[in-house]
Amino acid sequence: MAQDGDILLGLLGQSLGHSLSPVIHQAFFDELGLSGRYDKIEVPDAASVPSTLEDLSASGYRGLNVTIPYKLTVLPQLAALDVSATLAGAVNTIKFDPTPTGYNTDVSGLAEALYQLDLSGEGRVVVLGNGGAARAAVIAVSTLGFKSLQVVSRDHAKARAMLDQLLQTAERQSLIANCRQAGLTSFEDLVGPGADFHEDVSLVINATPIGQKNDHIPDNLLQFFKSVGGPGKCFVDLVYGKAGTPLTGVAQQAGFERIADGMEMLIQQARLAFKIWTGQLPDGQLARKRLNEKA
Ligand code: NAP
Repeated sequence: MAQDGDILLGLLGQSLGHSLSPVIHQAFFDELGLSGRYDKIEVPDAASVPSTLEDLSASGYRGLNVTIPYKLTVLPQLAALDVSATLAGAVNTIKFDPTPTGYNTDVSGLAEALYQLDLSGEGRVVVLGNGGAARAAVIAVSTLGFKSLQVVSRDHAKARAMLDQLLQTAERQSLIANCRQAGLTSFEDLVGPGADFHEDVSLVINATPIGQKNDHIPDNLLQFFKSVGGPGKCFVDLVYGKAGTPLTGVAQQAGFERIADGMEMLIQQARLAFKIWTGQLPDGQLARKRLNEKA
């Protein structure tokens, strides 16, 4: 039960049963000695989003995270967009002030998680996927100075549209300008005669749900990891799991030197959202400890 003065926060989305965000944000409240609550707010359909936002604002909620499938749905409901949301083209954080402003902490959260891996910024980055997380990955790696990018996608038209959209504005151009050789590959062509980019690859990021449900990992993806792995190579899976993920296991077998799953990005994007709502930036150690204990 919320007390007067409690900070009310929540996560807006669908199928939130397994979300770790309430554990993370409760740890932030505890770390900083703040009193508050972080609720899962299931919204059944896009049509219910506007009235839900109004109700939450009227009930005193200070802010929300937004997840699948509403990161774009909320855009028309917002009174203002922070530059982080404009650049990312999606919103994962809303602050009621009292009108709602949209932010995006996925890009900077991923950039921070990548920064911790001490990447050189040299060589080619391969991003698997063309959805919201892939878009965040492309922007994040371009801010880290990588100069060459390969996007691997089941749908070339969608991937091309994602890259074109990222290049549309001056801000985006300056962010992505370093990725001079933005290339597209299909999953089928990841190995074979056309795949002549393997030697340069220094970082692979999985921005698809592959492995999330312990699903079958396609043979050509396994071969790609084998071909690319080795000393100095990095793999980051945006999927996260209790003890790594199926793809972090594959990367380990293939000899990748630095490997991370999506847990650090999850914590980093949450830290940044918490600062937007409360003005205070948790260090996140208690959240990491609680997530490890849950594992
Ligand atoms: P999304 O917008 O729905 O995009 C999913 C992408 O994955 C699309 O490009 C889709 O391709 C591709 N895909 C799905 N299944 C595939 C398969 N079997 N083989 C090849 N490609 C496949 O989702 P998202 O928001 O980008 O999220 C992607 C993943 O990142 C999810 O697992 C999510 O949990 C994770 N994520 C983690 C964090 C974190 O903090 N760690 C943050 C955001 C997202 P098509 O277009 O061809 O369908």
